[in-house]
Amino acid sequence: MRYSCLFSQTNKTALHDTESVNARLLTQAGFVDQEMAGVYTWLPLGLSVMKNVEQIVREEMNKLGASEIFMPSLQPKEYWDITNRWNNVDILFKIQSQTEKQYALGASHEEVVTPLVQKFVHSYRDLPAVVYQINTKFRDELRAKSGVLRGREFRMKDMYSFHATQEDLTVFYERVLRAYVDVFSRCGLNVKVVQASGGIFTQNPSHEFQAITSAGEDVIVACEKCEFGQNSEVATVQENNACPMCGAKLFKTKGVEVGNIFDLGTKYSDAFDLNFSTEDGQRKRVLMGCYGIGTTRLIGAIVEASHDEKGIIWPKSVAPYPIHLVSLNAKDSVVTDQVYATASALYDECTSAGIEIFWDDRADVSAGEKFADADLIGIPLRLVISERTLRENAVEWKERYLSESKQVSLENIREEVELFIHEPS
Ligand code: ATP
Ligand code: MG
Repeated sequence: MRYSCLFSQTNKTALHDTESVNARLLTQAGFVDQEMAGVYTWLPLGLSVMKNVEQIVREEMNKLGASEIFMPSLQPKEYWDITNRWNNVDILFKIQSQTEKQYALGASHEEVVTPLVQKFVHSYRDLPAVVYQINTKFRDELRAKSGVLRGREFRMKDMYSFHATQEDLTVFYERVLRAYVDVFSRCGLNVKVVQASGGIFTQNPSHEFQAITSAGEDVIVACEKCEFGQNSEVATVQENNACPMCGAKLFKTKGVEVGNIFDLGTKYSDAFDLNFSTEDGQRKRVLMGCYGIGTTRLIGAIVEASHDEKGIIWPKSVAPYPIHLVSLNAKDSVVTDQVYATASALYDECTSAGIEIFWDDRADVSAGEKFADADLIGIPLRLVISERTLRENAVEWKERYLSESKQVSLENIREEVELFIHEPS
């Protein structure tokens, strides 16, 4: 992608007074645009990050054997009456048709998936059944002041599993827990697994996945080393204690809930009368689990956890592009043309080798402004081609999270870039 062709631009003056770091940086760097409180357009760079995150989530859910589907956001009131949630879920957006009918805008999809599964699951042979989707959710949040951490319209991966026995559900639940740890670590987030009280779903097991960042709303006691965490309100451990899992030291910190998994038991099967026939012909309730990841909140959590005073520092795995190429004007226009031709050749070479590269090819922008934009946007590797580097037949190489740069010869740059892209972050 050439910067000169990019639809969005950076805007360093936008939202200086905002309370939320993620909203400010994502807006200034041109990843999102706020339509109203809690509602955002995802601009090209932001959409790239969203797709990268969703792809990681998809890969890990597919490994569990789950099937991807896509469910409607427009949901009939009757389903929400059946579960008694039409009047009891305060964040539910309700809409009135020009006919008498009323609908909910999907805040969650238990009310859609349970009757759906009823059409496909009849006997023990149809179980377990696991479906997931990545979709837009709507919630009438009163406090939509934390940027993409708390949207009124946001993206979520939600997965639902259906089982014949508690044992089968428990085994699957544990596998999802491991898969979630993998998703968050692939996204470069430091996440703790916190056993949750379960809220309205008490009695049944539930775990929250808390990303460590000072922007978090929840206070947790977490292990310095392993993924153990506990909500500080219900904690049986305290900071400086030894971790019950690995013995390392516990510390107190803030967390953002990026995922949540629930063993729902028969809550929704009871409501919808979802049964299956056992091998010996009995009718039994289906057991159910549900598993959410807030994919756009996760992006906000990454920004909160990984930035400096100059801008975002994306982990390689989710960055909109791995490489940010900058070509600088020289005083002499002939030299400027040489710089441009060299950058253009590298851009073409990388692009045809399948390496995605973002090239700041703008002709009328100063070096200072290009560098400030590169820091703000936060792509992991910045390559600079200028009059000075050309003299040495080289490219300046600077990784976003490091302060020093180095020179790599033009001859070796392709190879070095390949190595950089493939080495783990
Ligand atoms: P919270 O307690 O933060 O309001 P929740 O527990 O109500 O969230 P769940 O119903 O468990 O949320 O939804 C699954 C996941 O969706 C959450 O773990 C979170 O990552 C994400 N999520 C929930 N609400 C929002 C929101 N308003 N904006 C963005 N992501 C959200
Ligand atoms: Mg939750």
